[in-house]
Amino acid sequence: MAEENTQSGLCEICMIKARKRFGQNFLCDQNVVRRILSAIAPQQGQNIVEIGPGFGALTESVLAIVGSMHAVEIDRDLIPELIDACSACGDLVVHQADALEFDFCSLVASVNKLRVIGNLPYNISSPLLFHLLEQIDCIVDMHFMLQKEVVDRIVATPGVKNYGRLSVMLQYFCVCEKLFEVSPQSFRPAPKVDSAILRLVPHAEILTPAHDVKNLELVVKTAFNQRRKTLANSLKTLLTVAQMQAVDVDASMRPERLTVEQFVKLANCL
Ligand code: SAM
Repeated sequence: MAEENTQSGLCEICMIKARKRFGQNFLCDQNVVRRILSAIAPQQGQNIVEIGPGFGALTESVLAIVGSMHAVEIDRDLIPELIDACSACGDLVVHQADALEFDFCSLVASVNKLRVIGNLPYNISSPLLFHLLEQIDCIVDMHFMLQKEVVDRIVATPGVKNYGRLSVMLQYFCVCEKLFEVSPQSFRPAPKVDSAILRLVPHAEILTPAHDVKNLELVVKTAFNQRRKTLANSLKTLLTVAQMQAVDVDASMRPERLTVEQFVKLANCL
């Protein structure tokens, strides 16, 4: 009961203080916090960083288990209350910074790679994911709350309507798993969209590696820019039909039917 009262008081503050420009929809549902916590399964001593801790809905529970962790928060006005809320749980190192520019690898000492978590600001989720992919070598896994539609795109398989650039690039680097959905009522203020929890675990080894990831990005972006066209058409500025045939890719296919491995093979022709 005491937990419920504290929670409802906090949720009222969330309604008053939420800033749209920072994508602030604060988690106010203890059942969802518990489910996320059990999905992350933090362990003492792990190197964890939370992106956008807000008032600490998730931070408090994770910190109480790991003992110390990092948080990257852009909104300086939230930080005193965050620190206050977490002071009894452990050592929280708050970096007041834009996660889009943050050097996550700077938090990794020796072999203790990072676990990255967060209820992400939905307005910057795609660029943030690409920023994290650039630092994937420092990361052991990631658990994020994202807009459900974005999670569905990330985990989509070839042949499915929402398979696209996000699916190919994220799946190239990671095993992508949708864990569960969260309704707008779990947040204050309630967002206009449904949410879902995503787990990303970098592949231990990429079986068909791209010679240059920039080429993979270019081929994927160019193909999906005109997703209704055949590869022969959409990729004609980059590759000939003969080059596609040489790596067993049917140039009359549309990009949504290509596997990640086939995209890599095309990129490796550049
Ligand atoms: N984790 C909190 C929760 O679940 O209640 C807040 C989640 S809210 C959806 C997103 C959080 O990310 C806010 O605290 C917001 O200020 C922060 N944020 C927004 N843009 C950011 C950025 N570029 N870098 C770091 N934090 C950011």
